[in-house]
Amino acid sequence: MQLMSKQIFEITVFPGDGIGIEITPACLALIQAAIDKVGGLKLNFTSFEAGANYYQQHGVALPEQAMEHAKNSDATLLACMGMPSIRYPDGREIAPQLELRETLDLFAGVRPVKTLPGIPLPLEDARGKQLDFVLIRESTEGLFASRESFSINGSGSEEFATDTQKISRKGCERLFEFAFSLAKQRKGLGYKGEVTCVDKANVLGSFYYMRQIFDEVAANHPSLAASHIYVDAAALQLVRQPWQFDVMVTENMFGDILSDLGAGLMGGMGMAPSADIGERHAVFQPCHGSAPDIIGQGKANPTAMFMSAAMMLNWLGLQHQNSAIQQAGRFIDKAIELAYASGEILPYELGGSDGTEAITNKVFSSLALL
Ligand code: ATP
Repeated sequence: MQLMSKQIFEITVFPGDGIGIEITPACLALIQAAIDKVGGLKLNFTSFEAGANYYQQHGVALPEQAMEHAKNSDATLLACMGMPSIRYPDGREIAPQLELRETLDLFAGVRPVKTLPGIPLPLEDARGKQLDFVLIRESTEGLFASRESFSINGSGSEEFATDTQKISRKGCERLFEFAFSLAKQRKGLGYKGEVTCVDKANVLGSFYYMRQIFDEVAANHPSLAASHIYVDAAALQLVRQPWQFDVMVTENMFGDILSDLGAGLMGGMGMAPSADIGERHAVFQPCHGSAPDIIGQGKANPTAMFMSAAMMLNWLGLQHQNSAIQQAGRFIDKAIELAYASGEILPYELGGSDGTEAITNKVFSSLALL
């Protein structure tokens, strides 16, 4: 008897704050269109309010019921959360997406840096127009681990503040195994098959510790290349010759910074997707924030959220051995590529005059051609 693969998927959705509320309906409609094109699948979307505005109204950023739903669903799709004007009493911004990462133990922040044809890109070299590498950011510890335990000590001219970095053996081992496994998959598709550990092992002992664990894990994968680079040199190389990288892996804070650099290489924040992946759960969200400067103007670029949705469909397909849902993800990626390759759309953020509606319409009409 042949086992039927799962056909019905429960998805927790967080439109969040700011432009998140504007781009989420378009993204859900696009997923539905891609699913309909494949046929035989059902995605049940359950949306929850959470984020900075929710915190302002209710005193909590992420309701317990929403967290429970996320824990029990097949995947979570999140637009963006946070508002610079709404903060916790200690001055930190409201960022329940960090709480989700920690509670669901989503240790691998996957940030693909893949350029699309038809949009202006910062690097002049032709190789800079065809980038295709992945940055993996550790997402549960590192320097962000102390975000809840911030304290100011001493007083007067002796006053000081400290944030403590946490790098654990378990955190490193599972992160590096994930990175090598991704590099192996990519090698099968014709990529280089190299993992580069980005650290600051020449200055901080915690990074030296991290690098040693990287070398131990690398030794288990002799068919793949392993290399190291200091974070400052990585920043330089990401601007000068980013095409040299295949899979980069780094600590939480470094990954936060370098992934925005990666978004810049793709043209802008509205073009950069991401996934935060754990053993059983995963949250998919664009790299950008709530963009308070363009709220309500129809200027938000939904592309990064569309790409994140395609990553979600691909991940669900891999988790459940369901090639149909992966095909739906490929349809979304292909429709985005076609839409931009046509040269008929250019988002506001890249100097054009197309906002959420025009970009969504073009992606839908491209999907219809597939
Ligand atoms: P955060 O501080 O959480 O990163 P943010 O929205 O303040 O959030 P970014 O996401 O880095 O910061 O975005 C910086 C700017 O880039 C925004 O203020 C906005 O002008 C622009 N931007 C970001 N995302 C988009 C988007 N999807 N569409 C159009 N413009 C965007």
